[in-house]
Amino acid sequence: MNLQAILDDIAAELGPRLGEGKVADYIPELARLDPRRFGMAVTTLAGETFAAGEADAPFSIQSVSKVFTLTLALGRAGDALWRRVGREPSGSPFNSIVQLEAEKGVPRNPLINAGAIVVADLLLAGRAPKTAIGEIVGFLRFLADDDSIVVDETVARSEADTGFRNRALANFMRAFGNLDNPVDLALGVYFHQCAVAMSCRQLARAGLFLADGGRDPLTGRNVVTRERARRINALMLTCGHYDGSGDFAYRVGLPGKSGVGGGILCLAPGHGAIAVWSPALNEKGNSLIGSLALEMLAKRTGWSVF
Ligand code: GLU
Repeated sequence: MNLQAILDDIAAELGPRLGEGKVADYIPELARLDPRRFGMAVTTLAGETFAAGEADAPFSIQSVSKVFTLTLALGRAGDALWRRVGREPSGSPFNSIVQLEAEKGVPRNPLINAGAIVVADLLLAGRAPKTAIGEIVGFLRFLADDDSIVVDETVARSEADTGFRNRALANFMRAFGNLDNPVDLALGVYFHQCAVAMSCRQLARAGLFLADGGRDPLTGRNVVTRERARRINALMLTCGHYDGSGDFAYRVGLPGKSGVGGGILCLAPGHGAIAVWSPALNEKGNSLIGSLALEMLAKRTGWSVF
């Protein structure tokens, strides 16, 4: 299989459609992005990387970060995490408040905003926010084998200035006793993890361990157990695209996690990790062109898990 030719075809075929969709505008810093940008990278378990478009351009990983903070939180708290957050698809938008109130401050899953704020709160336990943020960035650098990864402070500030809904979610959870730290501190960690900037190449490399049963195939290091990797994959498949998760599973058939910055990390278990970026989103808040690119890739490679 010629992966480079497949990526080149996808980029060429989608070229005329770049710009379809809408850039997230509720975070001012993201609203400024050119909707026609596009990048894609595939890293195989054998360590080969294939790329198309702006695969080395850093973008705001936003909610893709939730996969990595979940991995860290499971490492720290194990199954105790599931007392504070569920494992069911939400069927609701990423920042839904109604569901959270009805379910008494226990978010549906760790990949929606409320769930990720609980995870951030857990990662903050016994630490200063700066330390917790440093640990998250350090984990990403370790996984991507790249020390140049940093938080884009302008994006973090932009989101902190306008994150009224996230503040509301966090306040609800604090009122229900599901947040241990002051709301502003937990949100500080959350906004910074979302503002980490990474390229498609770095993101695909960082996610590779999840495509190989929890083991980084290039270093041989076990990042998580096989069982945990399977479970994180399951959550990504069922919950990784908010209320568009079912459709993504139907069309792509691979575990993935999207972010409003336009990035998607997708895993092809036993084959490799794929990252795609294009900032214009569909109506569910997932990269429109990114989802199409992954659908084409899954079809041409036969990598769907089904
Ligand atoms: N930082 C974003 C927010 O909390 C993340 C949402 C997303 O990427 O889907 O609003």
